This record gives sequence, structure tokens and C-alpha cells, in this order.
Amino acid sequence: MAESAPRPKLAVWKFASCDGCQLSLLDCEDELLDVAAEVEIAYFLEATRGEIGGPYDLSLVEGSVTTAHDAERIRQVRAASRHLVTIGACATAGGIQGLRNFADVDEFVSAVYATPDYISTLETSSPISAHVPVDFELQGCPINKRQLLEVIGAFLNRRKPNVPAHSVCIECKRAGNVCVMVAHGTPCLGPVTHAGCGALCPAYDRGCYGCYGPMESPNAASLSGWWRERLDASERDVVRAFRTFNANAEPFRAESEAHDE
Ligand code: SF4
Ligand code: SF4
Repeated sequence: MAESAPRPKLAVWKFASCDGCQLSLLDCEDELLDVAAEVEIAYFLEATRGEIGGPYDLSLVEGSVTTAHDAERIRQVRAASRHLVTIGACATAGGIQGLRNFADVDEFVSAVYATPDYISTLETSSPISAHVPVDFELQGCPINKRQLLEVIGAFLNRRKPNVPAHSVCIECKRAGNVCVMVAHGTPCLGPVTHAGCGALCPAYDRGCYGCYGPMESPNAASLSGWWRERLDASERDVVRAFRTFNANAEPFRAESEAHDE
């Protein structure tokens, strides 16, 4: 009887992050056994201490680069990976820890740690794509598990992932939500934010916080202008809205800097 072909090896790597995006894979409870049947989970310390050496067919990378050691390690991960996909706002945009990029990191370190001398960190938090070539970026904080399964399936089947690049507004209208911006004058980042959350916040009468980062070709300046003219938002309001989990994603960074005095 012919031996079955070896399963592709999957590795999941953590850099500076909260582990929430890795948990999205473990959260695929109904599908996890099917995934494990199709791939060999070779390296996934969040799930198991067992390790199988590379090279790996698909590496999922969570987290940003914040130390010199990270910068070296991601090059090793890239060298050991046939395909490399970044997952989550930390890995794709530098994450909430990227707020240091707008400030003096030493001030943050002094404020947070009792013994700052022990801390060795870079001045910036940068996305993985700033260091190595990335085959696909899956946005979100945390990522959507359905989109993650789609990405894994796509790479296993050697096709392009089908992850919509349109805005949260499309999801919001499909869900039949009342627009919080039009009906209540609540600032909402939905028009410039990548779909994936299912318009969760507007469904509960809150504006979108931009967890999924910029959609394809966002017009952030137009949205800020609308907030300033119609909602009486201050420059500071605009800066704070764009400066969260995806503060360093280019369109959000540029918009916050345009309003930062
Ligand atoms: S993107 Fe958000 S959920 Fe994912 S690791 Fe970073 S902080 Fe955690
Ligand atoms: S509530 Fe926000 S996401 Fe929903 S339609 Fe209005 S602007 Fe778009």
C-alpha cells in the first residue's frame, strides 16, 4: 500500500503581542481537528511544548519587532518558512505598542518599570514587513478566525486568500444596523476600516474603533473633515481616534500626524 504524502508543516510564532491572535486559531474549536488533519502543527508553543524542526511550509507570525533580538529572530523564521503570513495588528502595523513611535520610548519605560535599567528595547515597534518579505497580511485586533481559516486553506491549496478588503460600513449595512454617525452623531471609523469584525461596535450603538486597520484605499482625510465639520470633533479627537491599535498603519499614521499640533 502506498504511503500517504507528508502533511505540510505549520508553525505559529510570537513576537511582541498579547497572544490574542494565536488564540484565534485555538478558538476554531469546531474546525481545529480538521486543520490538524491537513497540516502537521510543528511549532505552536501556545498550544504545545512539542517542537518539530523546520523548514516549515506555512508560518503564521503574531506580534511586532520591538527588540534587537526580535529583528534577528524574524530573519531566521523567514529563512525557515516557505510562506510567511502575519496575523493581527501587532504583526501587520506595529500594534498598540507602536504608540512609542510618536513619543520618547525612554519616558514610557521610566513610567512603567520600577527598574528601567533592566529593559532593553528598540525606540520603535515595527511591523514584520519592515524586516522581511511577507506573503500575506491578515489584519485585525484580534484577527477573525473565519478569515484565518480561509488564509490557511488558501495557502494549502496554493491560491490567493479570499479576504474582502472593503470597509466595515459594508458589513454594517448588511447587518441592518442604524448608522451611529448619521443617527447619533457618534464618530465612527467604519468608513476607513477593513472589514472582519462584522461591525460589532456599531451593532451596540458605538462607533468603530478601527481594530481591523485601514481598508483598501481609505479616504481618512475626508472622514476627519466630516467629523470636524459636522460632529464638532477637535484636532485632538481625530488624533486619538486614529492612534490606537493600528496607529502605525500608513493611512492612519498620516492622518493622525496631519492633526497633531
Ligand atoms: S493584534 Fe491585538 S489581539 Fe492580536 S496579538 Fe496584537 S494586541 Fe493581541
Ligand atoms: S455606523 Fe459606522 S460602520 Fe456603520 S454605516 Fe455608520 S459609519 Fe459605517
